[in-house]
Amino acid sequence: MKAKSTGDLALVKKMNSYIVLNSIRKHSPVSRAQISELTGLNKATVSSLVNELIESSLVLEIGPGASSGGRKPVLLLFNEKAGYAVGIDLGVNYIRGVLVDLNGNIVSERYERLKQQRRELAFDALTANIDALIAEAPESTYGIVGIGAGAPGIVDQEGNILFAPNMKWREVPLRTMLHDRYQLPIIIDNEANAGAQGEQKYGAGKGIRNLVYLSVGYGIGSGMILDKELYKGTSGFSGELGHLSIDFNGKECSCGNLGCWELYASEKALLEEASKLGFEGLDELLSAAQEGNADVLKLFDTIGRFLGVGIANIINTLNPDCVMIGNRMSRAEEWIMPALQQTVQQRALSFHSEQLQILYAELKEHSAVRGAAYYAIDRFFEQFKAI
Ligand SMILES: [Zn+2]
Repeated sequence: MKAKSTGDLALVKKMNSYIVLNSIRKHSPVSRAQISELTGLNKATVSSLVNELIESSLVLEIGPGASSGGRKPVLLLFNEKAGYAVGIDLGVNYIRGVLVDLNGNIVSERYERLKQQRRELAFDALTANIDALIAEAPESTYGIVGIGAGAPGIVDQEGNILFAPNMKWREVPLRTMLHDRYQLPIIIDNEANAGAQGEQKYGAGKGIRNLVYLSVGYGIGSGMILDKELYKGTSGFSGELGHLSIDFNGKECSCGNLGCWELYASEKALLEEASKLGFEGLDELLSAAQEGNADVLKLFDTIGRFLGVGIANIINTLNPDCVMIGNRMSRAEEWIMPALQQTVQQRALSFHSEQLQILYAELKEHSAVRGAAYYAIDRFFEQFKAI
């Protein structure tokens, strides 16, 4: 048998270093002895890897922790300020950007309405947002480690937006466009996938095995976590539940189909009906509901029922632990929930809905932007891992 090459040894070392780093990220503050216990690596290996991680600025040492007797251990802390990432939620009519540290905590945020969907104008607004966030990043060892963005449409694995019907975009190579400008790792995904990921990492989805996250904003997108992993389908295109047909001869949709779910249950559907009553914008509607306006309450009730119809289909298909309502409509929880729950109860098969929870996104309108930032952080740490 051939002796192990140094290549193999380097690989093992890299893997172990990644394991040690992850255990510090997860359990920080933690001692070298605890890491050795947690990882099963011997103390000498842990010590040498920790020293390298300290040199690389990803780990800091802090003063002695509590001791159960004997010498007090020095504790190790993950240095979340060693670098920063940018997360972008590109909505149909807004851009939200955040600068986060390596633990995903928001350091700075910029939000603006997107008045024009024309590709060049939207790209200018997007880069202005990113430039401003990058300019606000504190000094750090790794600087900006990457940019993650969620977009409202079908995104392929190369980061091209193939089709964003509500933006009227086709074939926009967003990843390449951003990479050309920033020369940084860029990750583009559908905004609902990013939202599902954000809630799973930082919000109400923590620890849930099978979760369908619905991004109910201008349209309806969905992100699925199946067996704790984001499910993206064969080509990365899963999750167009907004275009589930719910009315055979229904309204015409921008996707070319008739009777799509999002035409009846999205914020756009709500605002169309609201404008007939002289209301403009979700904020105005929410305060009218608060004041008990009967017409507005009825509107929310109708949206709740339409949401319930689609959700019943999802429950019957996937039997998830949880369906989560995210994005802007999550703000209307109080007003849509009774009708939504009643409809689900009437329409979903009872076996499927027994264990089911309907939850609202904990991060509210920040689910997608934090998920997008997480993509960039995750990509940064991937480089410490052997393939
Ligand atoms: Zn459609």
